[in-house]
Amino acid sequence: MRRPIIAGNWKMHKTARETAEFAEAFIPRIADVRDVEVVIAPPYTSIATLAEKARGTNLRVGAQNMHQEDQGAFTGEISAPMLKELGVEYVIIGHSERRAYYGETDEGVNLKVKKALASGLTPIMCVGETLEEREKDATADVVRLQVEEGLKGVVPGDGEKLVIAYEPVWAIGTGKTATPDQAQEVHSLIRKILGKLFGEETAKKVRILYGGSVKPENIASLMAQEDIDGALVGGASLKVDSFEKIVKYYEP
Ligand code: PEP
Repeated sequence: MRRPIIAGNWKMHKTARETAEFAEAFIPRIADVRDVEVVIAPPYTSIATLAEKARGTNLRVGAQNMHQEDQGAFTGEISAPMLKELGVEYVIIGHSERRAYYGETDEGVNLKVKKALASGLTPIMCVGETLEEREKDATADVVRLQVEEGLKGVVPGDGEKLVIAYEPVWAIGTGKTATPDQAQEVHSLIRKILGKLFGEETAKKVRILYGGSVKPENIASLMAQEDIDGALVGGASLKVDSFEKIVKYYEP
């Protein structure tokens, strides 16, 4: 009942020309994919190119961040209307790299999530614990706080439009994946928290993606878990072959 999403986060990879080359090779390969939402979030400089190539296809375009204001004196920032005009439908918010390197806080994440929802963009809100927090047995507390603070003031009707990505920081770009059981445990906790915030019916509709060293070899076992509704994929989304295999995780 929850339509899976496989989303590629390209981070600071690929020029516009490289993006065009990727799109030309990749889009025909996913033309027959019907039951999975396929998203790529390239760098800002590649969004227009990707959106142009993706028009009329089943590839959707995301952004990796945005500002919470529509416009203003915010040098270096990009707003929701700017993304929407280019055809962007999804926006990653609060990725752990933005939290770690650019000082993003739960409060800031909350403003951006609310802005994305109000603008008709689908926020992919990222949460997840560090290795130190996991080793201190603090995973549940950390994730609960990030979810509750990130979603403060979001009304249940908007809740179902949300996407959450659980990305344990120790698994991002490290080659270490959470086991399907470890991931499922946190996904089910997140759904319980959503149930308290928005009610059971809404919580059942929210897609919760797993992220952290997802590869063609581990995607099927992750997707087999009850509360894992897709993946946010970094490194393995940069190559046509590996991203195609992840998108088609259901093929034997
Ligand atoms: C990410 O950056 O969201 C991510 C999950 O990266 P990787 O797949 O490379 O671990």
